[in-house]
Amino acid sequence: MSDPREELTGLAREARVLLERERARGRAYVTLAGRAMQPADTGPRPRDEASRAQVAPLASSPDPFTPHSFTADSTTRASTIALPGFESLVPSPAGLSVREDLPDDLGTLARLVSECRKCRLCETRTNTVFADGSVKAKLLLIGEAPGRDEDLKGLPFVGRAGQLLDKMIAAIQLRRDEVYICNVLKCRPPENRTPLQDEVDQCMPYLEQQLALVRPALICALGLSAVQALLKTKSSMASLRGRTFEYKGIPLIPTYHPAALLRNPGLKREAWEDLQRVRDTLKAQGAS
Ligand code: SF4
Repeated sequence: MSDPREELTGLAREARVLLERERARGRAYVTLAGRAMQPADTGPRPRDEASRAQVAPLASSPDPFTPHSFTADSTTRASTIALPGFESLVPSPAGLSVREDLPDDLGTLARLVSECRKCRLCETRTNTVFADGSVKAKLLLIGEAPGRDEDLKGLPFVGRAGQLLDKMIAAIQLRRDEVYICNVLKCRPPENRTPLQDEVDQCMPYLEQQLALVRPALICALGLSAVQALLKTKSSMASLRGRTFEYKGIPLIPTYHPAALLRNPGLKREAWEDLQRVRDTLKAQGAS
């Protein structure tokens, strides 16, 4: 009969190797998922069941951003643990300080933005687009800039891309009025062109103030332009997504912009993986 202490030591060693491997892959958390144990569930589980349980039934669901896909997933239970070395993902007050050169309430800030003429985009906009959603949100979603529909209505993520974003939010069991949605730029670039660096530089203080006042537990950056602006990088989406970054002490998860998913539905599988990461990170922080 083997020594229980040796068995425990061996298990601890294996767990450590597993966690270090996940951390080396850039993961801040690991998700432990499995079926709820039933009294009759006494037999051995297939070796790959735990990993399969983490994956939503994409193959059977043509659109992963429907409540259907989560209904099927609800047979599993998941818990998430932070990996060593990611303690800094806890929002730090120092990283989220309120700027003294801007209003310290969102209503006044929105009025200031509506009159802003700091960059050339003020000349072609119909409306500024400040934000939508809850100021108490734990999840803050950031896109690149308003498009035509947003410019006309003065609200972020309306039109077809907005409808898809609503489905994405619903897929992680939240509602639009429970999250905070905004863009890096508050005015529409002509013909929806990519924002120029000087426009981002001029507008970024407004976003920083929004972040400092909302103080979300997690940022989800939608689209490469938003991710690059926030992380100050030129890296590709392929190298950025699937990982958890940090923006001023707040965990940041990149994923595709809904408009990109409308143009290329084949990306929805990866976007769904990102949303699961968002959901699990919120759970790990006790924010959902
Ligand atoms: S994009 Fe931003 S900085 Fe430029 S005019 Fe609009 S609010 Fe001002």
